[in-house]
Amino acid sequence: MPNTLFEKIWDRHVVKTIEGGPSVLYIDRHFIHEVTSPQAFSGLEKRGIELFRPKQIVATADHNVPTLDQHLPIKEELSRLQVQSLVDNCRKHDVELYGLGHPYQGIVHVIGPELGITQPGMTIVCGDSHTSTHGAFGAIAFGIGTSEVEMVMATQCLLQSKPKLMRINVEGKLNKGVISKDIILYIIAHISASGATGYFVEYAGSAIRSLSMEGRMTICNMSIEMGARGGMIAPDETTFSYLEGREFAPKGAQWDKKLAEWKQLYSDEGARFDREITLDAAAIEPMITYGTNPGMGIGVSGQIPASADPKALAYMGLQADTPIKGKKVDYVFIGSCTNSRIEDLRLVASFVKGRKKADNVEVWIVPGSKQVEQQAIREGIDKVFADAGFLLRQPGCSACLGMNEDKIPAGKYCISTSNRNFEGRQGPNARTLLASPLTAAVAAITGEVADIREYI
Ligand code: SF4
Repeated sequence: MPNTLFEKIWDRHVVKTIEGGPSVLYIDRHFIHEVTSPQAFSGLEKRGIELFRPKQIVATADHNVPTLDQHLPIKEELSRLQVQSLVDNCRKHDVELYGLGHPYQGIVHVIGPELGITQPGMTIVCGDSHTSTHGAFGAIAFGIGTSEVEMVMATQCLLQSKPKLMRINVEGKLNKGVISKDIILYIIAHISASGATGYFVEYAGSAIRSLSMEGRMTICNMSIEMGARGGMIAPDETTFSYLEGREFAPKGAQWDKKLAEWKQLYSDEGARFDREITLDAAAIEPMITYGTNPGMGIGVSGQIPASADPKALAYMGLQADTPIKGKKVDYVFIGSCTNSRIEDLRLVASFVKGRKKADNVEVWIVPGSKQVEQQAIREGIDKVFADAGFLLRQPGCSACLGMNEDKIPAGKYCISTSNRNFEGRQGPNARTLLASPLTAAVAAITGEVADIREYI
């Protein structure tokens, strides 16, 4: 029987199947952060249960951390308490923590891959919906709730029902100025913000294969924004060369053994999907959202649709049947687990080198991890940003969500490389326009929504 990539990994991790019910799924890696772990730790303590396999858990502080002056105590009380409770819990339960000040600290979905902790064929969970990012390596990776975090801590297993499977093929060559973020915004606009509900998505096709690992992570990251349980891409030479030599990737004979296993991870010819879609890469232009969910997106040269949700437009202060190009913006945020990796920063730097930011915008560049920040400094990218008038901050989730000090003020427009444009996501009444790092970079220079194709 031909099998899908998902089925090959799933079948190897099923400990037990309950007749007519969910399966008990073994979990290889469990990432935790300060927001969803405290209740799980205290739940276990109340019941006197020890962590079953603490060495398979990796913790970092990301959501609540400030991105300026990280050496100082955190000013916001709730944030300070949450980060401190993570430190205390990890110490008490012998969990590896890459906390503030650690050279590996960063956004959980950035550090896992860059350290080689995320590997093909694994099952990976985290109490965070964008855990789907790790699927870019050919892993089954998905977000779980707080009670499930507790379940995994106690048993290293999770009760899960097998999702339906969808394959999305993107075939052909991408146009100039179109990158992975545009592909995923296009897919979500095409099938809607709920179009993949109940499915686990495999991305395939020549345009997907041509992407770097960073680009693939951007795609899988946003799977959740169309309702999917997760997203994945079959590992290939791009995956293997990204992983080789990374801190926690297998080494020597173990690498050879793993590599042979990983090369079997693909959907067999004739494998069955519950739904399959094929899209033409050449039809994709630089994308931008105009509304309050990631499915409300259009090509940057297009008009806001006449059918757009009036409530979303009222929140955004935009009108149907008008172009989005030329709309003035106030903030540019380049960061988040979608687009804060070194490749994103390099791309932005290559465009802005020798240019200056527009007077009407404030530009925040937030690296996804301490390692990304240090690499950017080694490459002189920080100087390019400083010359352009951009501020390179310190690693964290930052303005991706209004849970720390980095909030976009009410009523202001922010072009953001993050993944959610929900009402209030970047701060109360902030207005978010999701776009690629390139589209964000051109907005930083022009002070408005602009078409990157006219500048490169
Ligand atoms: S960057 Fe945003 S989406 Fe990603 S983990 Fe942090 S808060 Fe969640």
